[in-house]
Amino acid sequence: MEKKVLSHIRHSVQEKRSNLSDWVETTPQPEKELCLDCKVDQPVFEHIAVLDQTLQKAENDTLGVCKVCHGQVEAGVLEIDYTAEVCLDCLSEPERRHLEAELEFSSEIQRALLPQNAPSFPGLDIGAFSRPAQIIGGDYFDFFRFKSGSYGLVIADVAGKGFSASLLMSSLQTALHTLATDSDSVSDVVQRINHYFLHNVNLTTFITLFLGEYDPNLRLLTYANAGHNPPLLYRPSGDPRLTWLSPTGAAVGVLEEYTLRSESIALQPEDVLLLYTDGVTELADPAREFFGPDRLADLVAANAGLSAQDLVSALRKGLGDFNPTASPADDLTIVAAKALG
Ligand SMILES: [Zn+2]
Repeated sequence: MEKKVLSHIRHSVQEKRSNLSDWVETTPQPEKELCLDCKVDQPVFEHIAVLDQTLQKAENDTLGVCKVCHGQVEAGVLEIDYTAEVCLDCLSEPERRHLEAELEFSSEIQRALLPQNAPSFPGLDIGAFSRPAQIIGGDYFDFFRFKSGSYGLVIADVAGKGFSASLLMSSLQTALHTLATDSDSVSDVVQRINHYFLHNVNLTTFITLFLGEYDPNLRLLTYANAGHNPPLLYRPSGDPRLTWLSPTGAAVGVLEEYTLRSESIALQPEDVLLLYTDGVTELADPAREFFGPDRLADLVAANAGLSAQDLVSALRKGLGDFNPTASPADDLTIVAAKALG
């Protein structure tokens, strides 16, 4: 194989391996359970084993050798899946067409950001801390339409910051916009994103994300939560008033065997859905105490009568009061959606 391709794959797989093993070693247990949607680390080690096999093959000069003709698997194929073992010529016609579609999609998701429209959701009042689709470090939120015409909202957080985080987020954005218009199920969209991101050499970390779909006619919110901080649903006339929308599956890009459930909730007028990234709950005061989910829930309850945008402003003020010296603007994201009467 070309030296340049081989070294790119090796570098990238090593980077992902070190990201993952650092994460396993240093992340507090409750955060890991949230992110993996299970109590054990074993599924991460299955993925690390695949990364190790890839590194071993690179070492032995057997990476990308076609197992049928013993020729070379195309570099572009290996870029989207470094575990690929069959070259294009040795695939059946349907397999080849499928792979070509994946290659096309993969090059699409590496292109520049799509232009964004301001969110307009019938039946929902939306407020957000910053502009739609703005990528701030490792945070991302966005709005879009599903194939069915229903409305999508997403919040995501990359494990790790910096350039690769921004690249991941722009890839995620393009993937979401492309897949949502071709899909009717939030769990299907996230599972397909996992498939594209798991073995892709350009994506060396993983993503937690919450994807919601709102059908304004049924007032129905359907969601899948891939290891993301549980959004808060506050229902002034509900019992219970507070519901945390816990993960329905693991973070994207980390498990070889990936399944994700979806859940649905019918919204009543005045219900408030609050999405946020860990920069909110993990904001520390000068005594290093975390802001935490309880303060967040109290603030939402106290300000739930406001418009969505004023609620977001009240939360920002609450965070500012908690730690007046922090500059949370750089690394936290809040989106509020309030059901209209
Ligand atoms: Zn072959």
